[in-house]
Amino acid sequence: MNPLTVPPLMSGGLMLSYQCSSTCRHCLYRCSPKRENIWMDLEDVKRVFAALKRERLLHGIHLAGGEAALRFDYLLDVIRLAREMNIPLDYLETNASWCSDPDRSREKFRQLREAGLPAVLISCSLFHAEYIPYERTRIGIEAAQDVFGPGGVLVWQPWVMDILERLPNPQTTATWEEICAAAGWTTDAPQIPQSYGITPGGRAPQALRACYPLEPPEAFRHQICRRILESTAHFHIDPFGNLFTGLCPGIAPGRVGNLHPRITPEAFPAYWSLAEAGPFGLMQYARDAYGFEPDAAGYAGPCDLCQQVRAHLLDTAPEVHPELRPAEFYKDE
Ligand code: SF4
Repeated sequence: MNPLTVPPLMSGGLMLSYQCSSTCRHCLYRCSPKRENIWMDLEDVKRVFAALKRERLLHGIHLAGGEAALRFDYLLDVIRLAREMNIPLDYLETNASWCSDPDRSREKFRQLREAGLPAVLISCSLFHAEYIPYERTRIGIEAAQDVFGPGGVLVWQPWVMDILERLPNPQTTATWEEICAAAGWTTDAPQIPQSYGITPGGRAPQALRACYPLEPPEAFRHQICRRILESTAHFHIDPFGNLFTGLCPGIAPGRVGNLHPRITPEAFPAYWSLAEAGPFGLMQYARDAYGFEPDAAGYAGPCDLCQQVRAHLLDTAPEVHPELRPAEFYKDE
């Protein structure tokens, strides 16, 4: 069997922290205010940027969290560093929780632009509105458009604004029931994850469980994950330097220092198993070698099964599976 490796990186995000002002139900990286208050220090950011500069196909980097603007001056330093090092910075991803006042928001966006930020992505979803008053999202979008121009602001996803306009009180956070009612959906509607294109990984399989039909592991026996795991078109590097490819958090054979390791079944058995045999194959491996018992209730999707099997492997044999990191990703918060 020929070893695998991580292909050249193309475009991705630098997660400065798992700390967030929000605990969104759909968060793939399970960010939250309860996460440890750990941020990538500037020396490490410099190391990441230096490593990324060696990537011959890299054409874009965005800055993300958690919520990167929680440490605003530090964020300015990271942007300045990106400019100094000629990193192709695309945008900052923010949930706009800090945009409570139009003038102050404009001033902060101005500072970000002057530091070297070219554009902003503002998250707008049903899930954010449980933690962030919709009013702040609206203020953030308008203030960012004033500073960066309409072409410099991407709202993700804009159709949700029409729904959130119907909330009883946009100045405060809303309950999940109020948000679903504004959309015209019950809280278990399958349209909730479908309309937002949510991968049932991260927090979604638990927090939106009612919206998914649960299926047995056999239902996913035909999914093989090599192509997904080898996708570097939207990679992420977390504050610990772990490299996640293909929107698969919590599994990182590559790290800053060695972004393209030699991947063999001996070195990274969980990754190998997923690449060759998908989540069902990983489950068989975990059942045979480490006593994994599938949940009779079923799984919300292949990534739900994958994540639960990986959590079991990390619990029972962490030394055999160094690619399952960081450990805190697997804590249910
Ligand atoms: S099943 Fe696992 S490896 Fe495959 S796409 Fe989902 S999270 Fe990634």
